Amino acid sequence: MRSYSELTDRLRALRGWKVRQVATIWEYPWFVVEPTVAKRAPTVLLSGGMHGEEPAGVEGVLRWLECGRPGNINWLVFPCINPYGWARNQRRNRQRRDINRQFQRRTNTPEAELIKRLVKGRRFEFSFEFHEDVDASGFYLYELRRQPPYIGEQILQAVSRVTPINRDSIIDGNRATGHGLIRREIGRNMTRVRQRGPMAFHLFRHCTDHILGSESALTVPLAQRAQAHVTALEFALSLTFRA
Ligand SMILES: [Zn+2]
Repeated sequence: MRSYSELTDRLRALRGWKVRQVATIWEYPWFVVEPTVAKRAPTVLLSGGMHGEEPAGVEGVLRWLECGRPGNINWLVFPCINPYGWARNQRRNRQRRDINRQFQRRTNTPEAELIKRLVKGRRFEFSFEFHEDVDASGFYLYELRRQPPYIGEQILQAVSRVTPINRDSIIDGNRATGHGLIRREIGRNMTRVRQRGPMAFHLFRHCTDHILGSESALTVPLAQRAQAHVTALEFALSLTFRA
């Protein structure tokens, strides 16, 4: 079992961020992190821990919060979406559900319903989800955007200095660029995505025009995987909010 109280302690020790418990799910406090002061500025949604057996996602979010400052951005951060699974290193929640398949319609999956409520009526400059892929040979990225510019290739160039990139032409059943990027096209393919009910599609429909999702491979140590996610986020921020 991983210690959720250690994670809670790290959240409560953050400087420059406001940590709010917004729910209790399966007896675990569920946290949202935001800037201390709300600003009239674009918002970035950052999340980790959708799947409990992907610890580098949560670790990446924590490291970002511990080292990064909100800057002139409004943040909405879900540091650990699935505490029950994270504590047990299991993908699914207590109902044995993959939370990332519960966004297509109303379900009684509390994590998904809570997120839908928290994002309702909000707009995000982009959403960035940190994940891991237990079968992958290297780091890769999903990007879904309504119109150019696409920034995934540049992000991957930066991440390649930190960790090996997955250069396969097919990754997890999706066509990839050969540089670790899966660019989701809008159109026919989206029907299938919608039926699978990921959070990303819910957000893309209702809350944002730009989705990024990073997937680290378990072939390197946790610290390196977490750093890869942080590097990807840093480049997404610098490419999106060029001064
Ligand atoms: Zn995942």
